[in-house]
Amino acid sequence: MSRFDVIVVGGGHAGCEAAAAAARRGARTLLITHRLDTIGVMSCNPAIGGLGKGHLVREVDALDGLMGRAIDQAGIQFRMLNRSKGPAVQGPRAQADRQLYRQAMRALLDAQTGLALRAGAVEDLALDRQGRVAGVVLAGGEVLAAGAVVLTTGTFLRGRIHIGREIRAAGRVGEAPAVGLARRMEQLRLPLGRLKTGTPPRLDGRSIAFERLEAQQGDDPPVPFSAMTERITVPQIVCHVTATTPDTHALVQAHLGETAVYAGRLEGPGPRYCPSIEDKVVRFPARAGHRIFLEPEGLDDPTVYPNGISTALPEAVQGTLLKTIPGLENATMLQPGYAIEYDFVDPRALRPTLELRAVPGLYLAGQINGTTGYEEAAAQGLVAGLNAAGAEVVFDRAEAYIGVLVDDLVTRGADEPYRMFTSRAEYRISLRADNADLRLTARGIALGCVGAERARRFEARRQALAAAEVRIRHLGGSPEALAARGFRVNADGRRRSAFDLLGYRDVDWTRLTAAWPELADIPAAIAEQLSIEAVYAAYLDRQAADIRAYRKDEALSLPESLDYAAVHGLSNEAREKLTAARPATLGAAGRMPGITPAAVTLLLRHVQRARA
Ligand code: FAD
Repeated sequence: MSRFDVIVVGGGHAGCEAAAAAARRGARTLLITHRLDTIGVMSCNPAIGGLGKGHLVREVDALDGLMGRAIDQAGIQFRMLNRSKGPAVQGPRAQADRQLYRQAMRALLDAQTGLALRAGAVEDLALDRQGRVAGVVLAGGEVLAAGAVVLTTGTFLRGRIHIGREIRAAGRVGEAPAVGLARRMEQLRLPLGRLKTGTPPRLDGRSIAFERLEAQQGDDPPVPFSAMTERITVPQIVCHVTATTPDTHALVQAHLGETAVYAGRLEGPGPRYCPSIEDKVVRFPARAGHRIFLEPEGLDDPTVYPNGISTALPEAVQGTLLKTIPGLENATMLQPGYAIEYDFVDPRALRPTLELRAVPGLYLAGQINGTTGYEEAAAQGLVAGLNAAGAEVVFDRAEAYIGVLVDDLVTRGADEPYRMFTSRAEYRISLRADNADLRLTARGIALGCVGAERARRFEARRQALAAAEVRIRHLGGSPEALAARGFRVNADGRRRSAFDLLGYRDVDWTRLTAAWPELADIPAAIAEQLSIEAVYAAYLDRQAADIRAYRKDEALSLPESLDYAAVHGLSNEAREKLTAARPATLGAAGRMPGITPAAVTLLLRHVQRARA
């Protein structure tokens, strides 16, 4: 019987990161997935990143994950979203060539030592007598033994596709669902729920009248996601934008009853922030049009993804719907849109390491935990992979969006598909996309998951930044001295450094180097980073106190065996919730819905008394 340290089930975005992370940490790892040619497939839109999501990709990259490097080799249009706002809420995003992305992901996995790939369907889990996971059972009955298993099966657990009145069992269009595994999850009495998501029809770009539509350019030059990428060499393309019309909306209204959702055949909640065209028409009846981004799926692929019209209307109605949209009147539909419903596990059943409390050694990551999106899946995959390989790592809310994501899931659960936004992070001034490496790479090196080349580059950047900061903090002077160099500041007699000046709205690096020409030798990337740090310095000082208070509560861990019935004064509701979720820390208990500050105080007293 083959034996591995870690087996990862599923070659989607969570599975790829989990397997690579476990192997980077030195675990003998197997990634097993239905088909090797679907590794890195994007089930829905051909794009990586966006607001909040781009932060996650940069963080995964900072820990030497794969997603950032893969998209840099596959991106055909890069755009920094929210460029007009502060760096804290800007989000890198790139349109992907699907095939290049798959190839890049596969090449990165093939290059990873200690990682084997295998095609196969996992039908069951092997458990030992103590109920700990001991491996997986394949469709033919073969058992593969492992010290830990990571399940990243996406929408495949009892997946069912809906197109109009038609229903098919499927994990994704054209792919079979995982039924055996879902049954095992049920037998293990895991808290299962049902969610849904959807995708738009795919169009043949050769039949779209692009010349009549608004064009959307990418950034020039494109900014890479990964610290390992010097520059983007993939050719860049233009996207186009159109919109639905009142005719579209009337057609949708007329056929609503033929969709699974509106006919009441599909109950699980869908992604609120990525609604179907049916939902948009019902929710916003006054709107005359909804924007549609026409996103090419590849350089040599005529397929176009019409982002904004996810639908489960009958196929024939989808064809008519296209005729109501400017530029798409003669568009050929290559594949109809569909809705899919699937099982997920309530993530409150997980530890912050993403291990299931009820089944030691079994980790879950990705859409199976109630999230939606490639980036959310990748981030969880990384955490689960590192922990399955023995790292015992948890990122906190003040150090990474990855920490925010996992903490939200395990303390609050997912009553609708969960996606990341910058507004979910309390400390977003610290958690910027530009400083992900400065926040996380040193931690990654200590965890043993960062390769030598990245570690070398990181160290060089850190030293260059530190040296440049010392230099500009050293320069400066009194208000009079600064006035002589052309800077007007309050005449309060207080010395200001060049670093302080850089934080002023009207001072940029060009002005600084005009005043102190000796700074011109500082490389542009270092100057840009220092400029951002200077702008946020005052806010960061203020936020430091909040972070200290947060970490104090996080440092107080709650024993997993804590008997909440014995905590004096707690309401029955609080007792039930705490017993079900078993928060890892006092802070996590306080973030649970329905747990009041008074309940947290009672809990604190109880734990302190028990320790005294
Ligand atoms: P997946 O990428 O689904 O990968 C799962 C992998 O596991 C597959 O390779 C599968 O073959 C394998 N697998 C499953 N079961 C087994 C088994 N028993 N044995 C072996 N291998 C197995 N996200 C958005 O952000 N916005 C959207 O609009 C959006 N729309 C979507 C529409 C559809 C139709 C679908 C299917 C998904 C959509 N998503 C959307 C979600 C996004 O695709 C997922 O969140 C993301 O791909 C999840 O990654 P994952 O790694 O968890 O799972």
